[in-house]
Amino acid sequence: MLAAVVISAIAGSFFNMLIYRLNNGVSLFRPAYSICPQCHERLHWFELLPVLSFLRQRGVCASCGARIPRRYPALELVFILTALVLGAQYAPPQLWPRLVLFWFVWALVFSDILYQEIPYSFSAGFGLALLPQGLHGTPASLAVWLFLFLLIKTLEKFYYKKPVLGGADLLLFFLLALYFPLAKYVLALYLTFGLGLLAALTLLALRKAGRGSLIPFTPFILLAFTLTEYWGGVWLKFYGF
Ligand SMILES: [Zn+2]
Repeated sequence: MLAAVVISAIAGSFFNMLIYRLNNGVSLFRPAYSICPQCHERLHWFELLPVLSFLRQRGVCASCGARIPRRYPALELVFILTALVLGAQYAPPQLWPRLVLFWFVWALVFSDILYQEIPYSFSAGFGLALLPQGLHGTPASLAVWLFLFLLIKTLEKFYYKKPVLGGADLLLFFLLALYFPLAKYVLALYLTFGLGLLAALTLLALRKAGRGSLIPFTPFILLAFTLTEYWGGVWLKFYGF
């Protein structure tokens, strides 16, 4: 459990770097060390401790005093909480692949919220992390995905006249079609669009979003994935599937 928490915190710090560099077009290898984006000063080891460095430095760069965005310790904290939740549920052999899977879930969510864009390496990482969990998709789930894909493409072409769902979201739906058998897949889609619609209506009501504003959709897909993964079986049984 302690190992899972420590490794998750370090992974959180590493994924922060990946999210920043992949979305800003910075090379992953140059510079090979971490710098402050403000003063370009190389970070010392004591500035690289997940969460702790942020607290010790009161949220500012030790060299130039520039504010460190809260999203860095936030992602590290989320990684630590994920390790605690999964560590309480799974023993080490099953724990590690689960943990890696949810690292990628968070990387996709943060990337979409912060940059409205998803690097394909994160989608690929999520797909690869699904493999050890076993692919339970059937031709029927893939047929549903294909129907959804064509429906959205048709709506985009003839009705909205602009892209509605990003390629990364359609790819995630495809990966879930490989992973979930039909009933769970349909449930996951239902939850995705239900939660997305609910959030859109709430934001409209609170006047936080206009009709034309783009709401990051990936978090809803992944929330639906998590709900279906953990409680889908129970719900489907309850409704007699
Ligand atoms: Zn600095």
